[in-house]
Amino acid sequence: MRYEPVIGLEIHAQLLTATKIFCGCATTFGAPPNTNVCPVCLGLPGALPVLNRRAVELAIRAGLALGCRIQARSIFARKNYFYPDLPKGYQISQYDQPLAVEGRLELGPDARTRYVGITRIHMEEDAGKSLHHGLPDSDRYTAVDFNRAGVPLIEIVTEPDLRSAADAAECFSRVREILVALGVNDGNMEEGSLRCDANVSVRRVGEATFGTKTEVKNVNSFRFLQKALEYEIERQIDVLESGGRVVQETRLWDSDLGETTSMRTKEEAHDYRYFPEPDLQPLDVPQAWVEAIRSTLPELPEERKQRLMAAHGLSDYDADLLVRLITGGADYFERVVAAGAQAKAASNWIQGEIRRRLKELGRDDMSAVPVTPEALAELIDLAERGVVSSTVAKDVFDRMWTTGRRAKAIVDEEGLAQTGDTSAIAALVESVLAENADAVEQYRKGKTNVIGFLVGQVMKKGKGRIDPKVANQLLRDALGGAASSPGA
Ligand code: ADP
Ligand code: ZN
Ligand code: MG
Repeated sequence: MRYEPVIGLEIHAQLLTATKIFCGCATTFGAPPNTNVCPVCLGLPGALPVLNRRAVELAIRAGLALGCRIQARSIFARKNYFYPDLPKGYQISQYDQPLAVEGRLELGPDARTRYVGITRIHMEEDAGKSLHHGLPDSDRYTAVDFNRAGVPLIEIVTEPDLRSAADAAECFSRVREILVALGVNDGNMEEGSLRCDANVSVRRVGEATFGTKTEVKNVNSFRFLQKALEYEIERQIDVLESGGRVVQETRLWDSDLGETTSMRTKEEAHDYRYFPEPDLQPLDVPQAWVEAIRSTLPELPEERKQRLMAAHGLSDYDADLLVRLITGGADYFERVVAAGAQAKAASNWIQGEIRRRLKELGRDDMSAVPVTPEALAELIDLAERGVVSSTVAKDVFDRMWTTGRRAKAIVDEEGLAQTGDTSAIAALVESVLAENADAVEQYRKGKTNVIGFLVGQVMKKGKGRIDPKVANQLLRDALGGAASSPGA
């Protein structure tokens, strides 16, 4: 039996405001515990929330960039539950009338799902943080830090459109990239300003309805998200294969054990008793405000990709890689082209040699590249004009990378220019023919494609510093017209 996973993500992103969502306390990370607090975010009786306009603006930015419709009216609600890090006894969130709905996100050309639906984006406040370890009394007490209580968040909920763990990781990574490009979120998963919960179920291929899902919490890196989902998909398939039923539950990813463990089942799930927040007005967003915000959006990765494809004739795949896989790749590419290089060559160098080098360094951003775009354009020009062969060009590039010298200087000083000097090449051709009597014989019998092998031998002897076109011509001349009369 073949199974198909079904995945939907819930992504929490902290909005990059200076102050909290309902009070004037600072949002700075790492301040001494309980210093960024006031009666509002501590939930003291009688304190009233006032909505932070900037938080709404950032949430709208995110909504627009993810293709959502911004609702003219949305409503804040109280989500009631008891927890020590929640001083009011409820979290102010949006429930049945969220700020943004019906968006979509495009994944890359290798993804199984090209478009992931965005169900909704709603605004809410963060809770405080329980500290179980690291304090002098930690063996007896849990301490609570309320600095984070009331920090503004958006929650982005996707449709259950994803069909692999890898696509889910890609989706999370693209959302992060967009939020960072927008200035809505700092993308910092270690400090918890971007967090992801993954919902996953499996079903037999061809089945129309979804299976029972579990929710995996605590997957705050792309790699962990993928691993946790791969584990969970396997686990659910095993349960079904052995005749069992998947239990709807929340599971926790343990990266040390490399497995998910049950946290709470549906029976233990909260009934949040949502009701509209009586201390806040409905959030009315005039269309003119939405349009004003829309006009300030930067060029987003998807738009940039389309522009690169249209302006430089790049394929979907190449453009996507430049825009997404290598941070700063598209900027670098555009500068190489602006310096006079052909688009395809520039793209190939970035995807080939530069990416290989970056991988060796364990980096994925162009700021680690010591070769300037202008210097690469110069090398590309030498290769395009046939001054150096492609093999030598790679060699020169390596030296540019390690020494910081320019291509032309390296080629000149080390005599790396390829020679079109016919007599020197002719001598090499002669010795190659003498050493490869078999190939010559085959060629004469009509197997003319051995010429490729012979050219290769000449190039090898010339250490790559030979114009292959000249070598090819001289070889054909030397072999004469014999091939045209096989068996003669
Ligand atoms: P709940 O009622 O448990 O909150 P929702 O329908 O609101 O569930 O969906 C929450 C998240 O779970 C969304 O990201 C959604 O795409 C995803 N989801 C819903 N049903 C499934 C399913 N059967 N398998 C996988 N993911 C699902
Ligand atoms: Zn406060
Ligand atoms: Mg729900």
